[in-house]
Amino acid sequence: MNRARLFVISAPSGCGKGTVLSRAFENRPVFYSVSYTTREKREGEEEGKQYHFIDRRRFEKMIEDRDLLEYARYVDNYYGTPKLPVVENLARGNDVILEIETEGAFQVKKSYPDAVLVFILPPSLEALYERLKARGTEDDATIRKRVSKALDEIKHSYRYDYAILNDDLDTAVKDLLEIVDSERNEQTALRHSTKEDDAVKLIEKVILDAKTSSLSNLEK
Ligand code: 5GP
Repeated sequence: MNRARLFVISAPSGCGKGTVLSRAFENRPVFYSVSYTTREKREGEEEGKQYHFIDRRRFEKMIEDRDLLEYARYVDNYYGTPKLPVVENLARGNDVILEIETEGAFQVKKSYPDAVLVFILPPSLEALYERLKARGTEDDATIRKRVSKALDEIKHSYRYDYAILNDDLDTAVKDLLEIVDSERNEQTALRHSTKEDDAVKLIEKVILDAKTSSLSNLEK
């Protein structure tokens, strides 16, 4: 039997999560939640597409009015998920995808224990740093803050239901769809199976590599 599920997908920024998600869900009728944020719009971003861009005062009003399902601060800015569209879509039987960071993911898991938490790992922190540099949308200090934050998030990813590696795009998309399909069909056999050991090994490898890499002394 199929039922609507809430999928929470996290990945450090610059990890290629956007590409994995758009490839995985391009032909699937899922509801993709659009978050609110106080960060500046990047070149190429459009209001209402990647985010709703609002100022801090409006964001704090949304917190006060309890309009957000979850929210967090991430490298100097607020990000939050509007509650109503998520609740409505789940009620209509649509799968919902939230693309949010770890703190918000754990808040969602508290209010929706059935939510499925998936973490997308970068091949290494250095790969992440290089990708953010190549993107060219932030200065070096901000990039370093983001990479440092990424390491923190990776350390929390042990608490996720699944971790997948975005080394090869096709494999990452296939892994994600395998998780989604198995969860939608209530065959939760993948969870807490040998897959879990693989995930833990992946997480440990990225953390270990980070300790010996040129980014090991990132400022907090
Ligand atoms: P970026 O500035 O690179 O677009 O996003 C920074 C981080 O904020 C990413 O990890 C992204 O997944 C996360 N994020 C985006 N929207 C939300 C949200 O609504 N809530 C939370 N908690 N995190 C979000």
